[in-house]
Amino acid sequence: MNDYRTPNFSAGPATLPTAVLQKAQQEMLNWQNKGVSVMEISHRSSDYIAVAEQAEQDLRDLMEIPDNYKVLFLQGGATLQFSAIPLNLLQGTADYLDTGAWSSKAFKEAQRYEKLGLGKINLVSSSENNGYTSVSDISTWNLSENADYFHYCANETVHGVQIFDVPNLENDTPIIADMSSCILSQKIDVSKFGMIYAGAQKNIGPAGLVIVIIREDLLGKASEWCPNLLKYQTQAQANSMSNTPATYSWYLSGLVFAWLKEQGGLDAIAKQNHYKAKLLYNTIDNSSLYSNCVDARYRSIMNVPFFLNNDKDLSSAVNQEFLRQADKEGLLFLKGHRMLGGMRASIYNAVEVEWVEKLVEFMQDFEKTKA
Ligand code: PMP
Repeated sequence: MNDYRTPNFSAGPATLPTAVLQKAQQEMLNWQNKGVSVMEISHRSSDYIAVAEQAEQDLRDLMEIPDNYKVLFLQGGATLQFSAIPLNLLQGTADYLDTGAWSSKAFKEAQRYEKLGLGKINLVSSSENNGYTSVSDISTWNLSENADYFHYCANETVHGVQIFDVPNLENDTPIIADMSSCILSQKIDVSKFGMIYAGAQKNIGPAGLVIVIIREDLLGKASEWCPNLLKYQTQAQANSMSNTPATYSWYLSGLVFAWLKEQGGLDAIAKQNHYKAKLLYNTIDNSSLYSNCVDARYRSIMNVPFFLNNDKDLSSAVNQEFLRQADKEGLLFLKGHRMLGGMRASIYNAVEVEWVEKLVEFMQDFEKTKA
């Protein structure tokens, strides 16, 4: 563990690998011996294009992205994709699964385009009535025939609900997944998806970038109302440079991809991620103070919400004391999302194993003081 790096459990923007920050620091003033920073050069220069292409190639290698998929490096965060998806792909009916805060937002945003007359937005199932602690069985979903696409969120960052298996729709409806908080955490089969998207500020790099991985046959279907900059086809043709991209975020994401390769790729990082998650869930399950109510089959390996004495109120004495002591121990950003209350530890790729070990030790010690 690096002495001067404080364990950081922020949900996003989240901690970045120390080695990546050090490299960026080294290169800040004098990138490639040019006497300039990479953020001070044109995105159209051959030097920058080499950076952009290398980042894409490394991502393709890590995720084994098939050749018939485009990889786009766009702006507007994952949230703008909630609009871009219907604007690009809605013609008849689109199916949405609601399993938490983020898929719910995506669904609500898509409904605006239904009002605009682009098509119908169909909710296949919602777990709101069980407090977003589980996912209903696929046999109960109200799936449309011939949907333009099926949208779900693979990892609900607020509720800590992760869908590990790609839903088997038993037809060829393109599956679109919001992977903002689980991309690159373990191997997935990209060929099962029509499109994957992810805001960068968790497992990819700094904020300011959203990555879209889209199968080529889904390009060119955009509504006439779709702003040019949001058209996947336009961006694919322009190599994500229809306008000035987020060059520094793109560069830094490239450093993260190179770092991930050095760690041994996604299988190696997945092993570590499962180990970290197990440490935390075991600590919670073996305690009478802490609880996590997510169905064990869907417990996220990236975001672990938990409550003390089932108390969600962040201003309560026990929660305040936990946060104060954690802060004193140098365990940062454990406060839960305002929507859910309680605590949340986000344990993305760059969260070191030692940090999680320190956290569980702290949690056990804290519990003893409450016995
Ligand atoms: N989807 C998920 C799963 C998220 O966690 C977030 C951000 N926390 C978003 C979408 C929205 O991302 P952005 O802030 O980049 O728009």
